[in-house]
Parts: sequence; C-alpha cells; structure tokens
Amino acid sequence: MATPPQNPTTDALRVADLPGRGRGLVAARNVGEGEVLLSESPALLYPSTLASLRSYCAACFRSLPSTPTPCASCRAAAFCSPSCAAASHPGLLCAALSHGAGAGLAAAAPTDAVQEPLLFLLSAYSLPDPTLRALLSLSTAPPPPPGAQDAATLHAAVAALAPPHMLPQGFSPDLTVALLAKDRGNSFAIMEPYRPGMSLELLKARAYAIYPRASLFNHDCLPNACHFDYPDRPGPGNTDIVVRALHDISEGREVCISYFAANWRYADRQRRLLEDYGFRCECDRCQVESRWKVDDDDNGEDGDDVMEDEGEEDGGDDAHDGMEDGDGDGGADGEDDFPHAYFFVRYLCDIEGCWGMLAPLPPLPNGELSNVFECNLCGKLRKEEDAIPGEGTSGMVH
Ligand SMILES: [Zn+2]
Ligand SMILES: [Zn+2]
Ligand SMILES: [Zn+2]
Ligand SMILES: [Zn+2]
Repeated sequence: MATPPQNPTTDALRVADLPGRGRGLVAARNVGEGEVLLSESPALLYPSTLASLRSYCAACFRSLPSTPTPCASCRAAAFCSPSCAAASHPGLLCAALSHGAGAGLAAAAPTDAVQEPLLFLLSAYSLPDPTLRALLSLSTAPPPPPGAQDAATLHAAVAALAPPHMLPQGFSPDLTVALLAKDRGNSFAIMEPYRPGMSLELLKARAYAIYPRASLFNHDCLPNACHFDYPDRPGPGNTDIVVRALHDISEGREVCISYFAANWRYADRQRRLLEDYGFRCECDRCQVESRWKVDDDDNGEDGDDVMEDEGEEDGGDDAHDGMEDGDGDGGADGEDDFPHAYFFVRYLCDIEGCWGMLAPLPPLPNGELSNVFECNLCGKLRKEEDAIPGEGTSGMVH
C-alpha cells in the first residue's frame, strides 16, 4: 500500500452554501489530479460490531497482534500496543462490556443491525462535552426507514448498560434520537481492506468514524474526489481520512465524493440517498440513467428493474446485489447511452469483486504528476497506461 502524504495541504477547500444543495465544499483554488484536499482525524470512532472487538484494537482498529493486551477494565476488548491500552476506549462502552462480563451488551444487541447503533451511542455518550456538541452541529439524516432499530429501545439499552454516574448531562431520549440522525448521515466506514478471494463475511467495516469536515462533502455518482484510509499503517493517524482529487478541479467547483461504491445501479443509488440522506440525486450520471428508466421500463412507476444486466450473477451475493456491471458497457446499448464509460474504466478498480475507486497518487514534490493510481479499497497500485491500453487522456471528462 502506498505511503500517504505526510504534509497534506489544507487550503484546497472552502465551505460554501450551494443553491439547492445546502452546505458543501468547493475548491478554494485550482487543484491538480491526485492532490490531497483534506486529511482529518476522527471526532468519533467506534466498532462496527461486537465481533469487530475480537479482531481489531479497540483504540486504533488495527488488526490485533497474536498476543494483544486485554483491556484491564472490561477484559472484553483488547489493544494492539501498550500506548493504545493507555489511550483506552470509550468509557461507557467499556462499562457496558463489563456488565455481566459482556453478556448484558450481547443480550441487548443480538444482531449486527442493533449492535452498530448501540455501539455508536455508547461511544458518542462517552465523548467530552465540546466534541458531543460538535457532533450535534452536523447535518441531520432523515427519519430512519421503517424497520430500523427503534430509538427508544436503544436509549433504554444505553440507560440499562451504563452506570448512571457516567452518563453525560443532557442524556435523554431526544438527544439519543438526535445523535442517531447524525450517525446515519455522517459516518464513514473504515473497511477491512479488500483482498481477492476473501470471504464476503470479512468484507465489512471494522469501525465507523465521524470526521466533521469530511462530512461536508456532498455526493455525486461521478465524483471528482475519493477518500482513503490506511487502518493498518504504522504510526499515529492510521484512522485519519485522506481525500484526494481524481482529476484537475477548477477553483469554485464543488468537490464531491461518492457515498458508496460507484458501480451501484441507478435505482439502488436513488433509494439509498433518499433513505439515508434525504435527497434525490440529479447529478449528470443520474440524469442520463433516469432516461434509461423511461426507455427500458414502460411500466414506469416501480424503479426496481432499472439497468438489469443479463450478464449479472444473482447468486445470493449480498454485497454485490444491485450493482452495475462495472466494465463500462453494462446496461446500455452503446456509447451514446453511457457517456461515463470512460469514468468507469479510469477510476474503478478492476480487481475482481473489489469495486473500489482509483485516484492518482499525489504529485511529486517537484510538481510532476504521478501516473500511478491507487485503489481506496484493496490498495492496488495501477499504472495509468495499464488502465486504457493505447489510449491517452484525450477522453478526459469532468
Ligand atoms: Zn491500537
Ligand atoms: Zn474496556
Ligand atoms: Zn447521481
Ligand atoms: Zn481495488
């Protein structure tokens, strides 16, 4: 895996109010491809599941060594090093894990779907007051979809698991609802790096993190930036998020990332964005693909069959369910119907099953562009000329 830049630029972005889009981040100056636009430490970091605590350090989420240091308080979490043991992990989470030797937490959260919000709440309620307030200033996700874990139940579980004296001022059902809406709309997954052939069981988030500034990035289905993390990197800052430009971006232009793998189908993207972020995407790509819907689906109203690709396997593979054929020609008849084919070839990882996004490595200190692209999920490095044999960058679009 590439060594990320150690001296990130911080002057590349500014916050702007964008008509019809709310707050977002725009380029504060012309930026070049591969440039680091943002590098930020998490305000909050929490395990994705209880199982995650058996594989990863409870403080930094590196893979645990063969002889980890158990948490002296709860004995249920473990640390990768004495310094992480000294840094420890969120107090309420540690207390909840101690409750009945962890049985209380496991009983309150029998499934991953319940564990994630409960682990979030125990971690968020452990934050110092200024950080908790900073979290509450972030944008709010729409109300949870039907079937989501009920906030009142989660609140009761926190109240039952946490020692009352450790609960912060303001602990209340309303605050719990507010915090859950911040988590849904703003958290980033720190994924287990993808390895070809790995079981889908392993292709999961180790942890979730909230980065207040990075949470200001709006979504685009053809983004001009993408985010990296390097959880197993040695040294401090292994859970920092690093956002790099995919290509040149002119001053004043909005900088967007994709909130999920870029090969998702139109209907799946729209559903996810509406449920979790409360908006309909009208990006260039969605405008093109919404016309496919009209052409391909005369029944109109239900969007579920959009972009079915006869080549796609449908073998109960959850992680890949509902995704486009990523090689650029799936779902459309010709190039005119798929003007973003170039984007797919250039910026999507071609490692089987990965679907990570590729961004150029940062320019060299002398300003020379790197012609090496790095995948943000498997870490693969690919030379530019290997992506599109015999073709230069003349087809470049933004
Ligand atoms: Zn650690
Ligand atoms: Zn502990
Ligand atoms: Zn879109
Ligand atoms: Zn990859």
